Amino acid sequence: MPAQLLDRLDRPARRPAAPRLWVPKHVLVTRSAQAEGHTAEILRRVDALGVEDVRLLTGDRLPTAPKGETEREAYARAKATMAVVVAPPSALKPQPIPPSADWRLDLARGCPAHCQYCYLAGSLSGPPVTRVHANLDAVLAPIASLTGTGSVTTGTALRGREGTTFELSCYTDPLGIEHLTGSLATAIARVGTGEHGDGASLRFTTKFDAVEPLLALPHGGRTRIRFSVNAAEVERFEGGTARMPARIEALRRVAAAGYPVGLTIAPVMPVDGWQESYGRLLDDVAAALADVPQPDLTAEVITHRFTPSSKEVLEGWYPRTKLEMDESVRSVKRSKFGGVKYVYPKETMQELRGWFEREVPGRLPGARLLYST
Ligand code: SF4
Repeated sequence: MPAQLLDRLDRPARRPAAPRLWVPKHVLVTRSAQAEGHTAEILRRVDALGVEDVRLLTGDRLPTAPKGETEREAYARAKATMAVVVAPPSALKPQPIPPSADWRLDLARGCPAHCQYCYLAGSLSGPPVTRVHANLDAVLAPIASLTGTGSVTTGTALRGREGTTFELSCYTDPLGIEHLTGSLATAIARVGTGEHGDGASLRFTTKFDAVEPLLALPHGGRTRIRFSVNAAEVERFEGGTARMPARIEALRRVAAAGYPVGLTIAPVMPVDGWQESYGRLLDDVAAALADVPQPDLTAEVITHRFTPSSKEVLEGWYPRTKLEMDESVRSVKRSKFGGVKYVYPKETMQELRGWFEREVPGRLPGARLLYST
């Protein structure tokens, strides 16, 4: 065992600090959402957190921005707002979500954090209000009908034994809003107890650490909780999230509670000294999991990329960002539908991929690297 790792194991265990929970300043409830049973639970939680500005709307449209509001003001107001809405029909028809899962389920759309590279910038339109879905039963209903189907992970040698996989964090960070909704715990317990049938599994990734309410759930080993982790030089772009040691401690706690766990190492950036920085990160994870017997640990590695539209949105939200989004130092990758993405040049991608393919199993014995992209 490396001396550096032994040194970390010798440190006394720290009591986890209380997680910092997001409290929205404004809560809007659409007319249709008011008729959903789950809304009462959400409003009970909102009330317990002391939110004063709760508005029951008379229609289903969210109010438009006040006249004269600047882009910065609109951003700040939206990020401080949670809307309780009924999931649109598109959210009730799960889509395949390669390479992560057979199907995508949306407990919410939007996230209260402030990551300067946020991948939602290119995929969700309009002001970044966090919309939580009140019709939870309808959102979870497709699990029963889709279990046994799927073409992304189902049938693969690496992941086929997970059953039909459902990704919950495509358009949100479900743990970051769980204290306000309780939706994640409901989903985990229903799948864990087989309420939607056998053979389904959930997965989500998070940059938050409020895992306490999940620890005692009857999860049945059917939800893989992944933590989005990164080098310290990239973490500085992640405003409003739990700090890295807190995420790693949360990973240890859920692994000790018997959950399958994972690392979403993303977005990987070849910052100065990246080998040392990512090496330290993997060693910190190894040290945290050292006392957990045989954790079921996976890793997913995703390099940083941006699109013309995500760059435009992010530069509007974070005009002073130091995040590199320079097309001239990137390679263009085209999707089969003609979309453009800017990724690192081939040599950099090969170097990053080779390093993670070697170091993940080397520093985290037993971990399975699912993909590197
Ligand atoms: S935590 Fe994830 S979804 Fe939320 S702002 Fe950061 S990158 Fe976006």
